[in-house]
Amino acid sequence: MADVDVEKGVAEATAGNSKFGWNKRVVLGPDYWRWLVVVFGLTSSILGSSLIAGWWLVENHLGVGIFFLVTTCLLSACTLVFVSLAAMTDPGILPRGTTSPEDVPESDNAVRLVEVNGVPTIMKFCGTCQIWRPPRSHHCRKCDNCIEKFDHHCPYVGNCVGARNYHYLLKFIMSYLASMAFGFPMVILAITWESISLQSSQNLSPAEAFGTALKTDGTFLLFIYLFINVWFSFFCVRLLVIHLRLIWKNTTVAERNKKTFEHGNPYPKRGWQNFRAVCFPDVKPSRIVAGYEGPTWSLPEDCDVTIVGEAIDNLEQGQSTAKLSSSLKSTYSADSAVSDV
Ligand SMILES: [Zn+2]
Ligand SMILES: [Zn+2]
Repeated sequence: MADVDVEKGVAEATAGNSKFGWNKRVVLGPDYWRWLVVVFGLTSSILGSSLIAGWWLVENHLGVGIFFLVTTCLLSACTLVFVSLAAMTDPGILPRGTTSPEDVPESDNAVRLVEVNGVPTIMKFCGTCQIWRPPRSHHCRKCDNCIEKFDHHCPYVGNCVGARNYHYLLKFIMSYLASMAFGFPMVILAITWESISLQSSQNLSPAEAFGTALKTDGTFLLFIYLFINVWFSFFCVRLLVIHLRLIWKNTTVAERNKKTFEHGNPYPKRGWQNFRAVCFPDVKPSRIVAGYEGPTWSLPEDCDVTIVGEAIDNLEQGQSTAKLSSSLKSTYSADSAVSDV
């Protein structure tokens, strides 16, 4: 058995489809226009509904109006900052071609068996990036780069979500839902107060006053904004529940989709520790930023990875994990099941 070496060297320029700016401090996905659509949609709907409802509240009750207006505007600003950071941060691109020549296998589809914390796991060679992909990494076809602790390619920020920007995505979802937790009561309170005020000033019945309040200038726009926010809130709640469940189990979306841990999850953190690690992560420096000279490859945290066999060069394109696992098990006489990374 040999310990896995973490290769060191100057990060080379990456190819792939990501867009770079400011000496690669800003990394956008190939479909970054999606993030711009989300930012525009959220800015107009959150701020639009907050300003209209806030104005009605301020007219009827200055203190309550200012409280809701300031709170929703601050939370909305956090939402926009976090979604933009998720879209613009390097998700954890692994520099290409950094594997030492003697470690490059003959085939681009080579695999090797490693043990992650004692659990047999398949490590794949990425023919495009010419690197042995560390456990939990994955090659994103859209960005055309290998991403450290790849979670998924997010269609809403147009970028990959991985080791370096996952926490921003989570904070975006949570701050958006927090802004809605204040935004919805604010709108209900604004319409109710407007109705009560009309009821007394124009001597109307409660139903008539409510109907008149709904015909006030800006109501139509408010309901369009509300429709967008209600729809997006349901979507975000569902997304948050999915991610919280995965964080609890220390599993990424990619690992869930590929059923990577069918035979056991080798990563030790469980439950609340995972939430702390995700919300306050120890984010490593970007490996592609100009001037970076640190390791180009790293192991997942709290992991003891050992190579238990030489590279196998005969993995055919499309060969299933089940087939591969059984062939590796017979090759190495491993008794336990083999996980795919
Ligand atoms: Zn790759
Ligand atoms: Zn991607």
